[in-house]
Amino acid sequence: MKDLKDLVRPNVWNMKPYSSARDEFQGNASVFLDANENPFNRPYNRYPDPLQWELKKKIAEIKGVKRESIFLGNGSDEPIDLIIRAFCEPSIDSIVSIAPSYGMYEVAANVNNVEFRKIKLDEKFDLDTDSLLEAANDWVKVIFLCSPNNPTGNNLSRDRLYKVLNTFQGIVVIDEAYVDFSIEPSFLGELDKFPNLIVLQTMSKAWGAAGIRLGMAFASPEIIAILNKIKYPYNVNLLTQERALYMLENKEQMEKQLRSILSERIRLQAALPELNCVRKIYPTDANFILVEVTNADTIYKNLVRQGIIVRNRTNVTMCNGCLRITVGKSDENDALLEALKKM
Ligand SMILES: *Cc1c(COP(=O)(O)O)cnc(C)c1O
Repeated sequence: MKDLKDLVRPNVWNMKPYSSARDEFQGNASVFLDANENPFNRPYNRYPDPLQWELKKKIAEIKGVKRESIFLGNGSDEPIDLIIRAFCEPSIDSIVSIAPSYGMYEVAANVNNVEFRKIKLDEKFDLDTDSLLEAANDWVKVIFLCSPNNPTGNNLSRDRLYKVLNTFQGIVVIDEAYVDFSIEPSFLGELDKFPNLIVLQTMSKAWGAAGIRLGMAFASPEIIAILNKIKYPYNVNLLTQERALYMLENKEQMEKQLRSILSERIRLQAALPELNCVRKIYPTDANFILVEVTNADTIYKNLVRQGIIVRNRTNVTMCNGCLRITVGKSDENDALLEALKKM
């Protein structure tokens, strides 16, 4: 990897972050008259911990990483945007990613006026490592990858991800939003080996908490310090921090729901290919299945008419004729199968 200083935008490297009242005093006290807060309405009258240390302690324990290697944000969308703002000089630097994949990388690149290059996956929806690395010239500061990938559902193969991590001299982001649904291990265990790696995870999928907006980025303490420097001071609100901590402390709940989703996934994988309107289903390591159907637009509309909403991906690169179907509860999946049977 290049020196971090040569990858980070100079203005970001040189700037001083906003210093809040909570940053300037640390220690024990009982009278807080420093932040212009209202003394009534506890505990919500107080600004939340800007660095969310209590929550990070629990996440560190569950994920087996150091607290200093964790960044928490308002969903994964926040670290995606901050990574671009930290490393990519608008209209000069570029990003390389894959197609098809999650749309937010490109949106965040566009917002920041950063060129976004997409390398098509191969016919097995796996990485075309050679083309990817060829596109990653000196102006490319970040490569965004997603594994298991959305909307295809599969893991990118591990040896190809290692090849990218070993070869590319800039930052490699691996978005693991769906990793808990996969039997493959997370790349969190590789953080110490690859100083250029950033792993993204989220409470939105396996944890069933998309509504609280908590995204996680894991990387070297040096990279995390850069993200902390440019984030909004109180980017994760107190309600989210409280609720997330509660959920992490009761993770048997999540594990139970995860088992149910995985067994429903197996059931859908068996039932869908039996239907007349289904041409093929793609392998999945996530909580959704990419399904090629006889007529995606018509079937999508027919499902909507019956109050069943799936994602029509027919206009996405390499997904012609495909619907992306999220694995629901047993009765929801029954309703889907019943409806599809008649199409
Ligand atoms: C759903 C999803 C996320 C989660 O985004 P949040 O902002 O954390 O809700 C991240 N990456 C991918 C690829 C996803 O599909």
